[in-house]
Formats: sequence, C-alpha cells, structure tokens
Amino acid sequence: MVADELFSYLNCGAAVFSFGVVSYLAARIGVAVYSNRSEEIRTQTQLERVVSEEAVHYRDKRPDVKLVPLYSNPRLFCRDSAGVAWKLDDEVFEVSARNRYGVRHELAHIYEGHLDLGNLSERKGIQKVIGNILYHVYYEPVATLHGVGIKR
Ligand SMILES: [Zn+2]
Repeated sequence: MVADELFSYLNCGAAVFSFGVVSYLAARIGVAVYSNRSEEIRTQTQLERVVSEEAVHYRDKRPDVKLVPLYSNPRLFCRDSAGVAWKLDDEVFEVSARNRYGVRHELAHIYEGHLDLGNLSERKGIQKVIGNILYHVYYEPVATLHGVGIKR
C-alpha cells in the first residue's frame, strides 16, 4: 500500500513537472517567434527613434532616467541576445537592441530597477549570486513579458 501511494505521488509530481516544462518551452518558442517578427533595428538613428517611442510608456515611472542609445555596442554584438542595457551612472543607462522587442525588454530592465544595484557582470560575491538568482527567476521573465507588450 505504501509503495502504491508513493508511486501515485511520483506520477502526480512527474505530471506537474512535465506540464511546467512544456509550458516553459511553449512560452520560450512564442517569445522567439514574436521577437523575430519585431521591427528590426539597423541604424543608430532607427535605434534612437524606437527607444524614444518606447520610453514614452515608462517615463512617468522614473522621469530622471537618461537613456543613451548605442547601436554599435560591442556588449551586444558579442552576445546572442535581442538587446543589452548597461548602467553608466545612477540614472544614466546605455541601451542597445537588434529589434523593437529588444528595446522594450531592455527598457523594462532599466525602468523596473533591475540594474539599480549595478550591472550583473560587475557585481561581486553574494551580490552576484543574489543578482543571478533574481535575474533568472524574476528580472528576465518580467522583461520578457514587457518585450511582448504585457506590462503591470
Ligand atoms: Zn533581459
């Protein structure tokens, strides 16, 4: 009897885990498709225009933030990501992106305060560990939702 009960719990756990994995993969695929269909950015001027169009939706949240759009950013071109945001000073952030989705995603990181404690790759010790955990379980999902147009 105990073995049957244990087997039943394991089956239930496996089903919940499988549902979680399938849901996560479906969401990732959906975001990838959305990102690829998003307006592509090919010039500095275009990046500046898209950043200014998208920042309108966030300015009330943090009016003192200053954005520095940078199309030819080595931090972006050495990564396989849609964009990158970098804290330069207290309220000054560099933004680079390959498409509109990337701009929205990075603006979410900036305006939601994900970079307020500094750039993740520059943090040390426990701050880096905490930052990495928050990045994967909270910051990145929130920014991804903003990227596809779902905001709080
Ligand atoms: Zn991100």
